[in-house]
Amino acid sequence: TATLDRAAARRWMDAFAADFETQRVRLTELDRAAGDGDFGANLRSALGKVQQRLAADPQTARAVFAAVSDAFLDTGGTSGPLFGMWFRALSRALPETDPADVTQLAEGVREGTATVQRLGGAEVGDKTMVDAMVPAVAALTDATGTGPQQALTAAAEAAEAGAASTEDLVARRGRASYVGEVARGVLDPGALAVALFFRAGARALDG
Ligand code: ADP
Ligand code: MG
Ligand code: MG
Repeated sequence: TATLDRAAARRWMDAFAADFETQRVRLTELDRAAGDGDFGANLRSALGKVQQRLAADPQTARAVFAAVSDAFLDTGGTSGPLFGMWFRALSRALPETDPADVTQLAEGVREGTATVQRLGGAEVGDKTMVDAMVPAVAALTDATGTGPQQALTAAAEAAEAGAASTEDLVARRGRASYVGEVARGVLDPGALAVALFFRAGARALDG
C-alpha cells in the first residue's frame, strides 16, 4: 500500500482538482442558493494557483501542502484564508523527511481544524466546512495504527456524513447565516469540498 510521501501528496491534490471540476457547477449552485455564488470560482482559482506553485516541484509531502497553503492564502473569499490556514497546519505537522504517518496526518488535520474554528468561530452544527472537518479529525485519530489509505477512507466517510448533515441546518456562520431558513435544504459547499478532499486522498493512496 502507498505511503504518504511527496508523490502521494501530488496524486492527492491532482485527484482533488479532478473531483472538484466534476462538482464545480454544483458547488457554485449551492453557494448561490445560500451565499453569493462564488465558491466554485474561489476554489478553482486556488487550485489553479496550487498547480502553479507545484511546478516548483516541492520535495516532500510537507512541502507540497505548504505550497497548497500558500495558494489558498493567496485566494479570496472566506474559504481561501480558512483553507489556507488549515493546509498550513497540515503541512507543519508532517515530517521534514518523507514519509508521513497517520499520527502526523491526524495531528495536522486536528490542528488545522482548531485554527479554522479559532479564526472563524464556527462550531459543529453551524453549517460550515467545520461540520466535515471535525468528524474527519475523529476518524483519523481512531485510525492511528492503520495505514494512510485506510485512515483516509475513514476520514472520507466521516467527512461525507458531516457534509450531508449540513443540509437540514440553518447557518450560524458565514453568508448563509444571512438568509436564515432559505439555507435549509442546501448542503454547505465548504463542507462538501472537505469531503471531496478526503475522498480524493483515499483514492490517491490506493495502491
Ligand atoms: P464567501 O462567503 O466569502 O463568498 P466562500 O464562498 O469562499 O466565502 O466560502 C463559503 C464557505 O466558507 C461556506 O460554504 C462555509 O463552509 C465556509 N465558511 C463561511 N464562514 C465560515 C466560518 N466562520 N467558519 C468556517 N467556515 C466558514
Ligand atoms: Mg461565496
Ligand atoms: Mg464571496
